[in-house]
Amino acid sequence: MFLEKLTLTNYRNYQTLDLFFDHKVNVVIGENAQGKTNLMESIYVLALTRSHRTPRDRELIKWDEEYAKIKGSTWKRNRSFPLEIIISKKGKKAKLNHLEQKRLSDYIGSLNVVMFAPEDLNLVKGSPQERRRFIDMEIGQIQPSYVYHSVHYHRLLKQRNALLKELQKSPGSDRTMLKVLTDQMIQHGSEIVIRRYEFLQLLRKWARPIHEGISRGLEDLNITYDSSTNVSEDSELSKIVNVYQDHFKDIETKEVERGTTLIGPHRDDLNFFVNGKDVQTYGSQGQQRTTALSLKLAEIELIFNEVGEYPILLLDDVLSELDDYRQSHLLSTIQDKVQTFVSTTSVDGIDHEILNRADLFHVQKGC
Ligand code: ATP
Ligand code: MG
Repeated sequence: MFLEKLTLTNYRNYQTLDLFFDHKVNVVIGENAQGKTNLMESIYVLALTRSHRTPRDRELIKWDEEYAKIKGSTWKRNRSFPLEIIISKKGKKAKLNHLEQKRLSDYIGSLNVVMFAPEDLNLVKGSPQERRRFIDMEIGQIQPSYVYHSVHYHRLLKQRNALLKELQKSPGSDRTMLKVLTDQMIQHGSEIVIRRYEFLQLLRKWARPIHEGISRGLEDLNITYDSSTNVSEDSELSKIVNVYQDHFKDIETKEVERGTTLIGPHRDDLNFFVNGKDVQTYGSQGQQRTTALSLKLAEIELIFNEVGEYPILLLDDVLSELDDYRQSHLLSTIQDKVQTFVSTTSVDGIDHEILNRADLFHVQKGC
């Protein structure tokens, strides 16, 4: 799939912007604070309806303006179709083929993207929240039902936490509502967990040989799921539901005391191991980078296998962070099959092979 055209209105520091892109490599060049990341981010938002930088959509609207609009024309399965995201202070609309989609899960997946930004180099070392975000965004774009369960789960979690806060103040109150919310949350939570397990199997399958290649055959990567309850990866849905039901009963008193939900997919994490050792704890900076790069490259292949088309790749200011060997690995993965957007302050650190076949875009103060 390709992004052929992008139009921005009042998006971050862009008042209006109209661009046509090459199907292969597009390099965005500009000094610091000119709008490179904003441009990459707008493509990410067009695909996934959310920013990779902030959960607050309002920040995407140009200062002193009422709304922001991102329009794109994409090419997928041999036809072109328009996508549009409009963000106002009241909320967000997503249009596919000019029709507003009531549920974001009906929209997400129309355009698949893989973003690799400097903060992703932190994926391994960073907080569990960052790894959950990574897994949620990636599964969401290949499985619309994941977004559906995730939206419901987080809504219920908020209600349940508010209720637990009330019960914390008066533990003797009626707990019927708590039971209702717990049961509903278990249903959606189990659907999330089982999809995460399926995704992890695929991610492992693709990331392992890539990691082995980048590390010149020296490193074996493994990824495990760190569950906040005791479900094993091969469990069926009904078993996951049962484990949650039992565990929630066991910890009810503790949850009321703490006033918050203590188990569930919102508390789970991923662990990465290289040659059997936890990379987060023992990995060198290079090993952590290689792991992050392997995951991103694995996503490209994974999406191709699940969706039947390559996603577009957004490399925000990250190429110069990778040494020549890692850059050439990246290059051999994308070849001419993945439409790639590269942003950089200087072309110096970028492989000549990439530059030779790229379209260049210069950005300056949002123009
Ligand atoms: P760097 O090389 O430092 O990463 P960049 O070109 O990626 O720079 P951006 O992150 O795209 O820079 O930001 C460009 C400018 O956009 C910044 O000066 C920032 O203050 C401005 N900006 C961010 N949000 C908004 C907004 N909502 N409205 C107007 N301007 C904004
Ligand atoms: Mg930037």
